[in-house]
Amino acid sequence: MLFSGLLLALLWLFQIVFLDSFYKSIKTRTLKSSGDMVVRNIESQGLAELVDQIAVQNNVSIRIVDSQGNELLKESTESYNRFIDLPAWQLQDFYNRAQQNGGILFEQFSKESFDFTKKDGEFPLYIGKVPGKAEFMMESMIYVRTLEKSDGTSVMVLLHSQISPVNSTVETLRVQFIYIAAIMLVLSLLLALGISRLISAPIVQINRTAKLLATGNYDVRFTGQGYLEIRELRDTLNYAAVELSKVEALRRELIANISHDLRTPLTMITGYAEVMRDLPGENTPENVQIIIDEAKRLSVLVTDILDLSKLQAGVQTLNLSVYNLTQDVRDIISRYAKLTEQRGYHINFISGENVYVRADQVKISQVIYNLINNAINYTGEDKQVTVCQSVSGNKVKIEIIDTGEGIPADKLPYIWDRYYKVDKVHKRSTVGTGLGLSIVRAVLELHHAAFSVISTEGQGSIFWFELERVEPEEIVVQ
Ligand code: ADP
Repeated sequence: MLFSGLLLALLWLFQIVFLDSFYKSIKTRTLKSSGDMVVRNIESQGLAELVDQIAVQNNVSIRIVDSQGNELLKESTESYNRFIDLPAWQLQDFYNRAQQNGGILFEQFSKESFDFTKKDGEFPLYIGKVPGKAEFMMESMIYVRTLEKSDGTSVMVLLHSQISPVNSTVETLRVQFIYIAAIMLVLSLLLALGISRLISAPIVQINRTAKLLATGNYDVRFTGQGYLEIRELRDTLNYAAVELSKVEALRRELIANISHDLRTPLTMITGYAEVMRDLPGENTPENVQIIIDEAKRLSVLVTDILDLSKLQAGVQTLNLSVYNLTQDVRDIISRYAKLTEQRGYHINFISGENVYVRADQVKISQVIYNLINNAINYTGEDKQVTVCQSVSGNKVKIEIIDTGEGIPADKLPYIWDRYYKVDKVHKRSTVGTGLGLSIVRAVLELHHAAFSVISTEGQGSIFWFELERVEPEEIVVQ
């Protein structure tokens, strides 16, 4: 509205208030420039043609007379113009005044300056269909220049232009202006309404919903039609809300799982400890071992949670060293010996040459542990797990292969997420907390290492990562 108001005000000023002065100043400029052009070409061959052209184009009357008052050239397109017949004494008067003024004279005649008592032919002139009637009088202006030609003769160039009254034009414009103003106001009102409906209202609505979201209500859904950008914003926020609610659900689930996981070993520990206190015969190394194992399980769980928080908060830095990765994998697998013996698992290591890498040994070991743990937990009935080391160029790839159920393709992108578990039903047998792979991802990302999983449903999964191999440093070889 403000903008339209401003436009209208400008229109009013230029078209109506200042129209008259604009018109006059343009007329004056045209008259003077026409006169100057004639003066510049006074000696030229085509002067008559030029004068004719200027007179027609600019609607001015032009006369060129010599010092004796003889007419050299005369051109007029103005109707009822007595300027053409000015008497000699009048011409003489203009000439004298121009000479006094340095060769230039410019005069404007208002309507009031018309004097009917003056003799016929005396200047200012009356111009009109009915001579002598004031309503036909027109304002006019003259421009006079005197000069000496190269042959020594003095000439005077006289130009005259009528200023047509702009009153009727102003009146037309005024009426037009009122229509324009009314149309503009209605249009801007409609535009304002449209903008408010298309932009402001949906944004206000989205803002309200976003505030609800901020208070933790993740079930809100953003609505709002309108411009493409608003629809995109709505969709993005809806997506964010869905993702937030997923994280929230996972968090709740994790707390439930962790409490369950924490409670089970705690119950065992308390149970066994109480039995051992109350029944002296139960105080056996086996029972103590159970308490120790359960306490260890608790400690693993707590360490996992802490590790991940630290990794994700970015406070963990890498402690890089060059070490024998192949030997490290071998050592890790040997630590599973007891488990493999007792429960019939078989971990097969296809290694080849010894390969050295520059990495954080403790963290990479954790990655390998986590992947082998998962493979053992999820592998098939044959209880086979294969760890395969392969070298190509300056890269070494470690693959951990199981023969389990595999992971559905649509779940694959999520398994690296914190708290994510494909199987929502919490199984005590699968010890996991849903944190293992997030730790793997965080560590490998810190190392800028490539990693991924290839999984075929019903056939098993291959988790792999790749590190850059380096030449062993002396200290490592020793
Ligand atoms: P968890 O502690 O539950 O194993 P992870 O982060 O290690 O958590 O793994 C996330 C999920 O990915 C697991 O819950 C499981 O559903 C799936 N997953 C991980 N490794 C395998 C595997 N080798 N075979 C099948 N599914 C797997």
